[in-house]
Parts: sequence; structure tokens; C-alpha cells
Amino acid sequence: MTVNWKPEPPEGEREARRYIDFFTRNGITKKSILQSVDHTYARSNSYFDTVYDYFDQTETFNIACSKGCAFCCHTMVSVIAPEAFYLAEHIKNGFEPEESRRKIEQIVEHDRQHRGKSGAQRHVGRIACPMLDPETHLCTVHGVRPLTCRSMHSGDVTPCRVAFETRDAYHPAPSHALFFKNTQAYYDAYGTALHSAGLILEPLELNAALATIFTEKNVFVRWLKGENPFENASADAGLTDAPPPA
Ligand code: SF4
Repeated sequence: MTVNWKPEPPEGEREARRYIDFFTRNGITKKSILQSVDHTYARSNSYFDTVYDYFDQTETFNIACSKGCAFCCHTMVSVIAPEAFYLAEHIKNGFEPEESRRKIEQIVEHDRQHRGKSGAQRHVGRIACPMLDPETHLCTVHGVRPLTCRSMHSGDVTPCRVAFETRDAYHPAPSHALFFKNTQAYYDAYGTALHSAGLILEPLELNAALATIFTEKNVFVRWLKGENPFENASADAGLTDAPPPA
């Protein structure tokens, strides 16, 4: 079948104008930050739907990911502060109180054991994200998972399995740029919109950011004032370790 359309990925500058306009109208508050993440995830979902349709129609890329396949949930996840606040709100209020308390304890304990470990170290150690259900291998926060998780995909499950079984963090799996452009565009857009308002926006390690929110006082308020409560939760270059040179 001839297909004469292609998914149009979000574009950083255009999205930045949308965010600047949104924060100009609503102010930069806890409510508007959480709403903005809501919109970001809804827009990402629509975009990914078009990407799946496109690959279905053109058969140019096979998406091998399926429910319960979680090899890629054993590495480091980077997020930006608005996403960490959004997920923390969901963990506090989106579960029964007992389940919520248990999750927070798990995240804090996970962070105590693993803070500072790179993506490769987590992969080699098969250190699962604390949001992954150990029995079903399903993400327990699927609907509110970060942009980085939303863009993870593979064109073939075999290399993912080999990488996991051999603990080879650099074993390549086929991927497609259309998935990663979404995350980059929204990171750029948030960066432009919030940096110009004096807020600090840098990539954070997911669990360290959540543990900071759950264990320290007034983290959201401090961040909104332009302070950096996530100083020790940064997903710096050492944690996002690039593959060794060939
Ligand atoms: S948040 Fe969910 S999708 Fe992301 S790494 Fe954790 S378990 Fe996997």
C-alpha cells in the first residue's frame, strides 16, 4: 500500500512557544506545572499512536515490545523535575494509602542502595526500577511513566534478551529515531520555557529525584523559587555512560 504521510515529530522551538504561552497565561505554580505534564503526556500518546499507525501501514519498522517484557526497565531513567513532581503526586494520591506508603518506602530504599550507579551498572547488576512489578513485570505507573520510558522500544526482542542475559549494557537493539525525537522536543521546550523564568531544569535520575521529593521538606516550593533541591539527584554524564569507543 502506498502511504503518502509521515508522522510529524514535535519540534522543540514550536513546543517551547506553546509552553511559554501556557505559563504566561497560568503562571508558574504547582498546579500549572502538573497540568503541563498532563498535556505533555497526552500529546505524546497521540504522537506515538500516529507512529504506530505509520509503521503498521508501511511495515518499515517492526515494534517488538509487548506487555510484560521489561528488559529495558533495568537501567537508569532520566527525567526532568516537572515529571518527577507529577509522578510523585501520583504515587502519593493514585494508590490506596497502604500501597502508596509501601511504594514510597521501596523507592527510598532503592535510592539508598543504588544512588550514583550508572545506567550500565544497573543493567549489569540487573537492578530493576522499583516501579516494576517483580511478578508480572508490568510498570505499576504505566499511565504516568516518564518521557524516557515512553520512548523506549526495540525492533527485535532477541538482542534485548541477549543484552540482559549476558549483562552486556552495550549490546545494540534496533531502534527508530521517531521515538526519541518526542522526548528531546519536550525537554527542549521545558528547558526554554522554565529556564528563562529562572528555574533550574537539568536531567535527573528518576529514583533519586523521587526520593528527594519524599524525604526532604518543601522540595516543590524550593524548586519553584529557583533553588536546586535536586543537586544530588542529577543524571550527569557519568550516569548516562555512553558506549565505549569501537
Ligand atoms: S517507570 Fe515503569 S516503564 Fe519506566 S523504568 Fe520504571 S517500571 Fe519501567
